[in-house]
Amino acid sequence: MTPSDLFPMPTLSRRNGTLTLETTPLTAIAESYGTPCYVYSEAAIRAAWAAYREGLPPEAGTIHYAVKANSNLSILRLFAELGAGFDIVSGGELERVVAAGGKPETVVFSGVGKAVWEIERALELGIGAFHVESLPELERIATIAQAHGVTAPISFRVNPDVDPKTHPYIATGLARSKFGVTLDEARIGYRQAMDHPALSVVGVACHIGSQLIDDAPLIEAAERIRRFVEELADEGIRLTTIDLGGGIGIRYRDESPLDVAQTLRRLRAVFAGRPERLAVEPGRSLVGAAGLLLTRVEYVKIRDDHTFFVVDAAMNDLMRPALYEAWHEIVPVVDRPECLPRTGDVVGPVCETGDFLGLGRTLAVAAGDLLAVLCAGAYGMTMSSNYNTRPRAAEVLVRDSSHQLIRPREKREQLWADEFALLPNA
Ligand SMILES: *Cc1c(COP(=O)(O)O)cnc(C)c1O
Repeated sequence: MTPSDLFPMPTLSRRNGTLTLETTPLTAIAESYGTPCYVYSEAAIRAAWAAYREGLPPEAGTIHYAVKANSNLSILRLFAELGAGFDIVSGGELERVVAAGGKPETVVFSGVGKAVWEIERALELGIGAFHVESLPELERIATIAQAHGVTAPISFRVNPDVDPKTHPYIATGLARSKFGVTLDEARIGYRQAMDHPALSVVGVACHIGSQLIDDAPLIEAAERIRRFVEELADEGIRLTTIDLGGGIGIRYRDESPLDVAQTLRRLRAVFAGRPERLAVEPGRSLVGAAGLLLTRVEYVKIRDDHTFFVVDAAMNDLMRPALYEAWHEIVPVVDRPECLPRTGDVVGPVCETGDFLGLGRTLAVAAGDLLAVLCAGAYGMTMSSNYNTRPRAAEVLVRDSSHQLIRPREKREQLWADEFALLPNA
């Protein structure tokens, strides 16, 4: 059996009873950096990237890593070195990309609420394209670009109104969703943009949702986009780029995920014969299966018929289970054949009933043991918070048998360092 049959993470295996990422035992990580701790595998990220590149070689299109999935500077740096562009949703993410050595011209900027300062900064740095999500936003970008004497590259993020059949919180391409513009709105917007001296039309973009495990909605969206692009071309509005967004899912539990290279080839086939370049914006499928959250069991709390494995990681570290009832596999780091398996809930110390990492899990562990929460490389650390005044976890990048801290655990005092303890009015 290959490691990937055992675990939904390609570079995770059990060696001599100990969970090992690449060739680094997770016990060594816990010893060096403590818990909770995010641990990422460089080889797994490179492998996920290679599948994208296989399906969309440089001559066929560009791959823009969706920064919000995991925005650690070392991860961004790795993607920049691999030749990725970036998909950002805020001015903060733009600064991260630049700080990590990413090139602004490879950046596309999505998001429904771009602020004036974000647009100014993006123009100043010279990003590749704004993905415009409303007509008022088009107007704002045009006004700012004109005032600064520059031309803003724009694409409309259209909403092809297909149901991605995923969790409602991560479905973004339905007509009632706040994201993007309808095809009718986009038609009007393209005409306005063509006539505006401070705007240059780059292309069209869409992103229908996340954690897609079936390619039918992606293909359907692509076919709608193709028809739309042809209509625009008939009107004399010629685009250079068609951006199909991200959204390809990963195996968290028992899903059979899409084959990335094959899905990209299918999407390319939809556009066969068209002159535009393709682009994609994957996040989760590049980093999700490359990372895990390492945590330690504080207590095993047994009450009549119910067991709680109380661990030192919580919903503030990994929000997905609380937010989407998402499933993450949870496995003991060291095999304990002598320990009696019990079924219970893996919960954190945060004072919320929704604070769980996994419910109804059967585990042979005792207090003090390490657990790994798998497939936490995407939307893990980036969604973390300081709720309950908990410092954010450390982050570590593994390469073969070496490991490096890429963000230290936050210090407690840092958490209130900028606050004022005002005296109440006398
Ligand atoms: C979040 C996001 C992505 C990435 O989605 P994944 O499901 O992580 O691949 C791509 N494009 C846009 C516009 C996004 O908001």
